[in-house]
Amino acid sequence: MYKLSNRSLQRLYGVDPDLVRVVKRAIELTSQDFIITEGRRTREQCCINYGKGRTIQQCSQKGVPAKYAQPNLSKVTWLNDPFASKHCTGKAIDLVPYPVDWNNLKKFHTIAVAMKQAAFELRVKIKWGGDWSSSKDYPHFEI
Ligand SMILES: [Zn+2]
Repeated sequence: MYKLSNRSLQRLYGVDPDLVRVVKRAIELTSQDFIITEGRRTREQCCINYGKGRTIQQCSQKGVPAKYAQPNLSKVTWLNDPFASKHCTGKAIDLVPYPVDWNNLKKFHTIAVAMKQAAFELRVKIKWGGDWSSSKDYPHFEI
């Protein structure tokens, strides 16, 4: 049976309690160890992400302070609202197989099976980014 590392536990700070319960149960059920790479994103982190690949004007229109505009960088988010990501409200979490392996989708599927089982047991409704029909997000779970 696997255990969440201290670093993973720290990343649960500010995450919705229902989602925390699901993740803590999933680590007991899973046959694939995982780490939490992201939980709650601070408002500042949301601004930093939105500013990448956008001009001062584009940022200002959405309430992101000018200092975050970095038009020369590649875009990392396509959200219309910079604060709409569920990570900004603590309703999402990203899980990655451990040892870290981004290429084996089977491992992400195994984690998703454990997450869904845990959510079912705890009667919490979750969505997995790997089930989305377009632009799949395999590490991503949200409520
Ligand atoms: Zn995510």
